[in-house]
Amino acid sequence: MSTTVSAPQIHSRVQEFIAKPRKMLIDGKWVEAASGKTFPTYSPATGEVMAQIAEGDHEDIDRAVKAARKAFDSGAWPEMPPSQRGRLIWKLGDLIEQRLEEFAQLESLDNGKPLAVARVADVPLAVDLFRYMAGWATKIEGNTIPISAGSKRAKYFAYTRREPIGVVGQIIPWNFPLLMAAWKLGPALATGCTVVLKPAEQTPLSALLLAELIIEAGFPDGVVNVVPGYGETAGAALAAHPDVDKIAFTGSTEVGKLILQAAAGNLKKVSLELGGKSPNLVFADAEMKSSISGAANAIFFNHGQCCCAGSRLYVEQDIFDDVVEGIAEHAKGIKLGHGFDPDTSMGPLVSQEQLNRVCSYLEAGLSEGAEAIVGGKRGEGQGYFVEPTVMVNTNPKMKVVREEIFGPVVVASPFSDIDKLVAEANQNEYGLAAGVWTTDISKAHRIAEKLRAGTVWINCYNVFDAALPFGGYKQSGWGREMGHEALELYTEVKAVCVAI
Ligand code: ADP
Repeated sequence: MSTTVSAPQIHSRVQEFIAKPRKMLIDGKWVEAASGKTFPTYSPATGEVMAQIAEGDHEDIDRAVKAARKAFDSGAWPEMPPSQRGRLIWKLGDLIEQRLEEFAQLESLDNGKPLAVARVADVPLAVDLFRYMAGWATKIEGNTIPISAGSKRAKYFAYTRREPIGVVGQIIPWNFPLLMAAWKLGPALATGCTVVLKPAEQTPLSALLLAELIIEAGFPDGVVNVVPGYGETAGAALAAHPDVDKIAFTGSTEVGKLILQAAAGNLKKVSLELGGKSPNLVFADAEMKSSISGAANAIFFNHGQCCCAGSRLYVEQDIFDDVVEGIAEHAKGIKLGHGFDPDTSMGPLVSQEQLNRVCSYLEAGLSEGAEAIVGGKRGEGQGYFVEPTVMVNTNPKMKVVREEIFGPVVVASPFSDIDKLVAEANQNEYGLAAGVWTTDISKAHRIAEKLRAGTVWINCYNVFDAALPFGGYKQSGWGREMGHEALELYTEVKAVCVAI
């Protein structure tokens, strides 16, 4: 297994980018942390320090919020016609596309994912998101309302306006660093908000390159501020800040609850995209080949580090052994290695912490009586590798069946009764996504209706589109990312009533 990468493989601009400590972007300027501190970001493939980043904390967040407040209240941004706002967002998408290779390399180096995946998924999806949201800038409309109040003598004309919510704090995770920044920034900018973005401490690099392009695109100073730092310090300060009007968070359900508590101080609006333990249901009438590779990709894509990973697999009894063996064969064919190695199909997990977490779930599953028919342990090498794993002999009480693992581990169980299956699929605190594999189209739609999940994929999985809303039922979150639904999270509705 190759876990190192030779310098010539790295784009010269990427080498330059990581060679010197990166600063943070506040009010259109690159600045050091107020404390002067930096923190390291590690290569997940080798465990070595890759770059140093300015470490934001309370004071930096406060400066960034002041800049965002100033940019929201006065200056060019609130005066800018929506069409021009849209053009800036579109231009940002173009600039990212022009630097696709650099972004893909930064994602692979910082997160560990295969470079080939970042090239075809993370970066193009981010470009699409900005283009989609650019179009919305000119379509944030209110209504005229035929109200019944009044009389023949007192008449009223009433309408609504959708106005930007204000200064928005955005806290994002490390699994799709650039794409998560795009999901957050796109709707905020389309609606005319200003932003303080805190990238995840494990993967701050692509957000900092994005910040360079935000300046290059011509956004006014202070519209987007990027403050890297740790969650307990910079993130907590942003969530609690009294001058932030809304906080948008993607990450664990545990931290989502802390965000909610921190936001209570000034009752800022909150949207949350949290964890999942998504059921993936394979029926005996499914097309075998595509459901096996689909169910394998549902869990192994991005090393299982997807909040919507299809991590609970339910297979109809008659075909259980065949499907599970098929997925195990697929897992055996997955080559672990450095994201830059063209043969690599799965890179390392993002961090030592994540490696420990996933390994402790593997141990818990095995000690509770589950059997790993493939994988089940740490991968070889000094990086944070885990073998793709399929567990059978599970039951609904096991930790590995109830809790989100966020690694390449699927738990499989057989079913024979559809009603019991739906109840079991829904028997979880999360409700982010689900998959259904069948050639019976009526059954597919009936089951899709019954599943308590924000997304249901039928005969496919992990299909994302900027126009398709994404978010969770139950403890998987509040609100939706992408689609026009996302715009609602960034606007306030004002009712205007005029006596005429
Ligand atoms: P994960 O468990 O997947 O690493 P987290 O929910 O811990 O995800 O982190 C997601 C994001 O939330 C990161 O940007 C992290 O820095 C931030 N974060 C972590 N703890 C807090 C906190 N107490 N307050 C605000 N943000 C936090």
